[in-house]
Amino acid sequence: MFGLFRDWRRRRWLARARIPAADWRATVARLPLLAGLSPAELERLRDLATLFLRDKALEPAGGLALTPDMGPLIAAQGCLPILNLGLDYYRGWRSIILYPEGFLAHHEYTDATGLVHSVHRPLIGEAWERGPVILSWADIVATLDEAGLNVVIHEMAHKLDMLTGEVNGLPPLHRDMAIADWSRAFTAAYQSLCRDVDRGRPTALDPYAADSPGEFFAVISETFFETPAVVAASYPEVYRQLRAFYRQDPLARLPASGRLPAASDPPGPTPGCG
Ligand SMILES: [Zn+2]
Repeated sequence: MFGLFRDWRRRRWLARARIPAADWRATVARLPLLAGLSPAELERLRDLATLFLRDKALEPAGGLALTPDMGPLIAAQGCLPILNLGLDYYRGWRSIILYPEGFLAHHEYTDATGLVHSVHRPLIGEAWERGPVILSWADIVATLDEAGLNVVIHEMAHKLDMLTGEVNGLPPLHRDMAIADWSRAFTAAYQSLCRDVDRGRPTALDPYAADSPGEFFAVISETFFETPAVVAASYPEVYRQLRAFYRQDPLARLPASGRLPAASDPPGPTPGCG
């Protein structure tokens, strides 16, 4: 009953507040990673993005002046991972805090001796458990044409990971998936990446993914949507798990767009994402 009422409210909202067609076309034109989506999928993404902007509050910070293109551009990227999952996967949080550029995040942690440390480190994105997503607008724009990097999808992947109550690279899997298969694929890939990073070898993924299993999931999720061939070639088992989780196959739709990083131009390191 509650679900029916919610669906009715969503349909009513879409009927009167859908992102205007011209704005949506302009948004899609700026996002090469949407190439290959069918017209029906793009319309579904437009609906999701419209509802995302209804449910989430875009809050400017650091002197940023919001412009009308910002919401749709963030929503379109943010909703791509849940295109076949639904908006409920982003339940439990509301704010998207948008800074003009990278920001200093303040963290406190207690070490083994009980001493509380207070640190500030520069970030371009951050996701808080049951709290806001924080993004740098300059970095969103700067990576639009940089195949492989996507700070919005990165932070949304953290949100999906957090649905289980832990940030460990294991989002809530579907019934037709097995945690054992996921763990096997991800553990092998993560350990392989960490070895490459430790030995100073070139890596297919942004080396920041070696920071933790949670960061590995976020980085490989953005790579999965941006340059799926990189994931499929380097970590085919992980590709299969991501395809099953996101219920999408970017590799099947993206080759026609030619969106592959040049061999001499691997994705650069991301200057810190929470
Ligand atoms: Zn991160």
